[in-house]
Amino acid sequence: MKKFISILGSTGSIGLNVLNIINKKKNKFKINILAADKNFKLICSQIKEYKPQIFIVNDPKIYQKVKNRFKNYKTEIINKINSNLKIFNKSDISVAAIPGIAGLYPTIEIVKKSKKVLIANKESVVCGWDIIKKCAKKNNTKIIPVDSEHFSIMQLLKDHNLKEIKKIYLTASGGPFLNYKISQLKKVKPIHAIKHPKWKMGKKISIDSATLMNKMLEIVEANKFFSIDLKKIDMVIHPESLVHAIIELKNGLFKFIYHETTMVIPLANAIFDNKVDILDILKPTLNKKKIFFFKNLNFKNIDKKKFPIIKLKKRLCEYNSTPIIINAANEILVDQFLKKKISFISFSRRLFKLLEDRNYSKYAIKVPKNVNQVMQIDQWARQTMLKMISSTKQ
Ligand code: NDP
Repeated sequence: MKKFISILGSTGSIGLNVLNIINKKKNKFKINILAADKNFKLICSQIKEYKPQIFIVNDPKIYQKVKNRFKNYKTEIINKINSNLKIFNKSDISVAAIPGIAGLYPTIEIVKKSKKVLIANKESVVCGWDIIKKCAKKNNTKIIPVDSEHFSIMQLLKDHNLKEIKKIYLTASGGPFLNYKISQLKKVKPIHAIKHPKWKMGKKISIDSATLMNKMLEIVEANKFFSIDLKKIDMVIHPESLVHAIIELKNGLFKFIYHETTMVIPLANAIFDNKVDILDILKPTLNKKKIFFFKNLNFKNIDKKKFPIIKLKKRLCEYNSTPIIINAANEILVDQFLKKKISFISFSRRLFKLLEDRNYSKYAIKVPKNVNQVMQIDQWARQTMLKMISSTKQ
C-alpha cells in the first residue's frame, strides 16, 4: 500500500530534496499535504504534478492567487495549518522544513497528524522541544532529526548508552569565510554569505553557517534531542563536510559517520528506516574516488577571533528560555543583514549585548507551556534587538 507523505516547506531546499527522493520511488508514495510560503510558480507546478490532498499557502496574497487558479482542482488550498484542519489521511511520514520559529506551530500540528516526522527545522527544536516531545508522546509519533549531524548522532548512539559517551563533536564546514582574514570579514555582503562552499541550502541557514550560529543552534538541538549535557558537546571544523558527527567513547574509541555532502542521504534513510539502496536515488560521486576522499579528511579547532559567535556556547542554555531569545534575536540579525542594514561582523556583539539587557533574565527564566508562551518570549527578543539596532551604528 502507498504511504501518505506530507512536506511543510515543499518549495525549499529540503522540500525539493524530499520530492526528488519520492520521484525515484513514485509507486510507494501518495502526497498528502504540501506547504509553502510565496513561491507562486513552484506552488502551482507542485499542485499539478503531485495533486496533494491539501496545499497550505502561507502568504495571504499568494494564497488568494493560488486559490483562484485551482478553483476546479481536487486539491484543497488553505492558508494556515491549524488544529481544526480536517485531514482524511494521517500521514505515514511528514517532513517539517519551514525555517525559523515560523516552523514551530506547523511542526507541532503535523506531529499530531503523522506517524513519523522528520524534523529539519532546527529552530523548532531549539525553541519548543518540550512541547513537541509531549505532543509526539501523546500521539505516538516517531520523531527523527534529519540535520545531517543529528541524524549521524542518532545512528551512532544506537549502539551506546549516554553513560559510555565522553564527548560528541559536531562538524562544521566553516562556511564561505573559513579562509578569510578578519579584516576581510568587515566587508562581506549577503551575496558572499549565502554562497555556501559545500551545501545548497536556503538563505537563513546559509547565513547561520557563515557566522557559525548554525553550530550554536545545532548544539542546543543535540542537547534537547539526545538529553546530552552541553559540556559534552563540542564542535570541530571539517572543511570537507564528509564526516558529520563524531562520538568519543570513554573506552578510548572514536566513531564517526561519513557520507557524501548531500541531505539526500539522511533524508532517504529517515524516510526508508535505513533500508534503502542509495544508488537507486543518487548518482554515485564519491564511490569511485573513496580512497582519495578518506586521505583528505581534515579537522581543526575553530578560530574564536574569526567566529566570535561560538563564545555564546557557554550561555546557550543558562536559563530555560535563553535558546528562544538567542534564536529570535539571530533571526532579526539575519534579516537585517540580508537587507544590508547591519554588518556581518556585528552579529556576536549584538547578541551578547541583548544578553546584558535588564529584562533579559525576566524572560529567559520563563518555562513556556505552549506555543503562545514561546512566542511571547520570542517577540520580546525580536523587539529588543530591533530597538538596539535602530539605536546603534553598523
Ligand atoms: P529554504 O529557505 O530553502 O525553504 C523554506 C521553505 O519553507 C520554502 O518552501 C518556503 O516557501 C517555506 N516557508 C517559509 N516560511 C513559511 C511559512 N511561514 N509557512 C509555510 N511555508 C513557509 O529553507 P531550507 O530548506 O534550506 O531549510 C528548511 C529548514 O531545514 C531550516 O530550518 C533549516 O535550518 C533546516 N535545515 C536545512 C538544511 C539544508 O540543507 N537546506 C540542512 C539541515 C537543516 P517559499 O519557497 O514559497 O518561500
